[in-house]
Amino acid sequence: MSTIADHLGALAARIDSAALACGRDPASIKLLAVSKTKPAAAVREAYAAGVRDVGENYLQEALAKQDELTDLALTWHFIGPIQSNKTRAIAEHFAWVHSVDRLKIAQRLSEQRPTELAPLNICLQVNVSGEDSKSGCTPTELPALAAAVAALPGLCLRGLMAIPEPSDERAVQEAAFARLRELQASLNLGLDTLSMGMSHDLEAAISQGATWVRIGTALFGARDYGQA
Ligand SMILES: *Cc1c(COP(=O)(O)O)cnc(C)c1O
Repeated sequence: MSTIADHLGALAARIDSAALACGRDPASIKLLAVSKTKPAAAVREAYAAGVRDVGENYLQEALAKQDELTDLALTWHFIGPIQSNKTRAIAEHFAWVHSVDRLKIAQRLSEQRPTELAPLNICLQVNVSGEDSKSGCTPTELPALAAAVAALPGLCLRGLMAIPEPSDERAVQEAAFARLRELQASLNLGLDTLSMGMSHDLEAAISQGATWVRIGTALFGARDYGQA
């Protein structure tokens, strides 16, 4: 059976070749290890293999894992949907939030960010595929939201995030990621972060400027929600 270290090696090779294929420096693309449904032991194994950034979708699950891993120098990213009653714990226990899609949540995170911590790094999640069911602000809502969030003292607006509708077609994948890149550029806020690309589409995302790729399955193996 291959190990998390094997998977990480294979992922580094995928990231490198995708970067070189489009003339980017591989070091400009960072790996966010998405550990939802996976035990703390798997995160510990990933850490031993070199992972330093971990993404979690569910607050209670994330806090339990953080408690078990306090001895590791990990940076924690929140990447799931955010309910108002969860903002305080998120503001206190994470360094990044990739899934902010409305001002009310951003305002709460800013107010609740402990002053002794650095401002919380924020990506605004944008719905680039136009599906009704997905979270994310609309491209139309984005400029006003970005301007308002950029002004909040407890936050540091870093960039945009998207989870496009899954597609096996490279051209369709690229079109969605290109949309996010263009939206970021049109904001003209000097943002340095594009959080886009998962296990099945990281090459397309890198070709369109991804700076964080968020990888679960290709690192930790398939998720079993039945046991989660
Ligand atoms: C689960 C998840 C991922 C990782 O997806 P994989 O396809 O397993 O790589 C990335 N981003 C978000 C927001 C997720 O919820």
